[in-house]
Amino acid sequence: MKKVVKFGGTSLADAAQIKKAGDIIRADESRVYVVPSAPGKRFDGDIKVTDLLYRCYDLAAEGRAFSDPFRAVEERYRGILQGLGLSLSLEEEFQKIESCLRSAPERDYAASRGEYLNGLVLSSYLGCPFLDAAEVIFFDGDGNFDAERTGAALGARLEEMPRAVIPGFYGSDAGGRVRTFSRGGSDITGSIVAGACHAGVYENWTDVSGLLMADPHIVNDPPVIRSITYKELRELAYMGASVLHEDAVFPVKKAGIPINIRNTNQPSDPGTWIVENTARRPPFTITGITGKRDFCSIMIAKDLMHSEPDFYRKVVHCFEENGVPLEHLPSGIDTMTVVVPEAKFVEREQRVLRHIARQVRPESIEVEPGLALIAVVGRGMRAQSGTAAKIFSALAEARINVRMIDQGASELNVIVGVLNEDFERAIRSIYYAFVGK
Ligand code: ASP
Repeated sequence: MKKVVKFGGTSLADAAQIKKAGDIIRADESRVYVVPSAPGKRFDGDIKVTDLLYRCYDLAAEGRAFSDPFRAVEERYRGILQGLGLSLSLEEEFQKIESCLRSAPERDYAASRGEYLNGLVLSSYLGCPFLDAAEVIFFDGDGNFDAERTGAALGARLEEMPRAVIPGFYGSDAGGRVRTFSRGGSDITGSIVAGACHAGVYENWTDVSGLLMADPHIVNDPPVIRSITYKELRELAYMGASVLHEDAVFPVKKAGIPINIRNTNQPSDPGTWIVENTARRPPFTITGITGKRDFCSIMIAKDLMHSEPDFYRKVVHCFEENGVPLEHLPSGIDTMTVVVPEAKFVEREQRVLRHIARQVRPESIEVEPGLALIAVVGRGMRAQSGTAAKIFSALAEARINVRMIDQGASELNVIVGVLNEDFERAIRSIYYAFVGK
């Protein structure tokens, strides 16, 4: 079985961290493909190499001197090479990058060099061949990932290379120009490589021992989620939990490859397994709980709205037209509620309200700002009766007023709307009701 191992920026921030990553890779022969990020923060207040490179680009694009941030990038790599005792020299690479930035600065190219250089470092340190992502990861003319072209090229190359270091975050377009994914995109590269080589597992090494059941700033010492399905993760990630780039799920999910989130600083921790399906029962009825503040609900009332076949469509269209994304649409008999991000709505509120008034002639419209949405997620909820009752009695006991309820048909999650000021208390009361103190 082959494993693809991706290491995040903090896992490769300096020579000491790279040594830990090296030990992890050498400890298991099946860890054959290595996908590095650029060196991240070594301490609070430190600057990621990628951010330094964006800074270089911004200055270069304005025709200003960029030597300060560029020297800082060089120093980061020189320090790493020295700390690892490598004879590899990157001086020629630095010169090439500097002259590209000076003559024809390109943003994606600049940003990608952090991963590129770190790939060269790791390749030399591990004695493992380097495969430039620009040769095997492709984007189309609009900058979107080209799965088809990549799958064919990458699959063929990996067949010839039993081991390789493939830098994360970037690839190239049809014209040969370097393109990057969005920030945090090395996670996506790792997933693509895992899909292309039919890996048995995609290990994503980071600085935490997996995904936590809840935000540790809100609840005391939440346990790590041992196993979670892709669908559950999607629900939690959408509502704020972050451990992986959201697009990183798709390439492996399609190929049925599990993701294992691991901690470079605690390699013996089993981490979190993200899988398509599992018979493993979660230890609690809920798998996790998360949420976001600052939503706004707009309740539109009109008697017999159901007899107007295009009522819903017209209302939705009023938001769409003004670029206000919809989060939820809980409905009543003669009411329809639209929940939207407050900041986006406020910019356009008068236009949206005017459109609604004109389009559907409602009896009333009530706008309520300051809502927080809490997502209680768990594949175990479907099989367990009384889950909703437990959520709502926990909130009632804490004297928290529930402003909105939305249970998806999948019964994988329950979304509860409360006032912003009740957000943390609500999460705590639900969490403790299921997990115990
Ligand atoms: N280095 C890039 C970033 O900082 C990509 C990554 O780390 O995944 O966003």
